[in-house]
Amino acid sequence: MTATADALRDLHTLHQRAKAVRDRLLSGPKTLTVRQAALVARQADLEKTRKALQDAKLGLSKNEHALQASQAKIDDLKVKLNLVKKNEEYKALQNQIAHDKAAMGKYEDLILQTYETIEAQAAELAKVEAEVKQFAQDVDKLQKDLETQAVSQTAQLAEIETTIISAEDSIPIDQREQYRRVVRQLGADALAAVEGGACIGCYTSVTAQMLNELINRDALTFCKSCGRLLYLADNEAESSRASGAPKGKAKR
Ligand SMILES: [Zn+2]
Repeated sequence: MTATADALRDLHTLHQRAKAVRDRLLSGPKTLTVRQAALVARQADLEKTRKALQDAKLGLSKNEHALQASQAKIDDLKVKLNLVKKNEEYKALQNQIAHDKAAMGKYEDLILQTYETIEAQAAELAKVEAEVKQFAQDVDKLQKDLETQAVSQTAQLAEIETTIISAEDSIPIDQREQYRRVVRQLGADALAAVEGGACIGCYTSVTAQMLNELINRDALTFCKSCGRLLYLADNEAESSRASGAPKGKAKR
């Protein structure tokens, strides 16, 4: 006689638990990679914001120098204005001064605008800096948490795998290779319950002969359609008998 339905159901549950732990072990690093990439993108945004502020400050200093230069030029022209004798020269200098004063006005407007821009950009920079700092801390914490979780998950997985190995003792030696092949192919889906006369892995009906095998447990039964190792669901033997399915000589 081979493994009971309960033993196979337990083995199935163990495979599913192992898969769930393996999935968590794999999904952690994936999540981390996505968050790290998002952080890199945000850091690039921060650099752009910083560069924009730097450029605005450079522009401001350029306009301030131009303003000073215009002022110096006007001062110079005013000195010359006091020295000229000819009316034409006097008028020409006056025009030049008017022209430079207009230029000064333009620079002053530009400087005022740039001050406003710089103020807005500095506020934006402070905001982005704080966000990126928080983000970096979150990613760092996620990484540490995942590392801690991975240690306990790895230990948990090893424990389940050990339990699976002892549970596999109930698999008859002459059918172990077939069982292992299905596990390699289907992993946690290598086993399936038979419910309502069908394999619930692929919903193909099992034959009367297979149902008999499942009840008698002379050997393991594999689904002819999907290859899964089958076991009877709770009450399946009773309901199969009640519905006129083959009679079993052994109890489950
Ligand atoms: Zn099947």
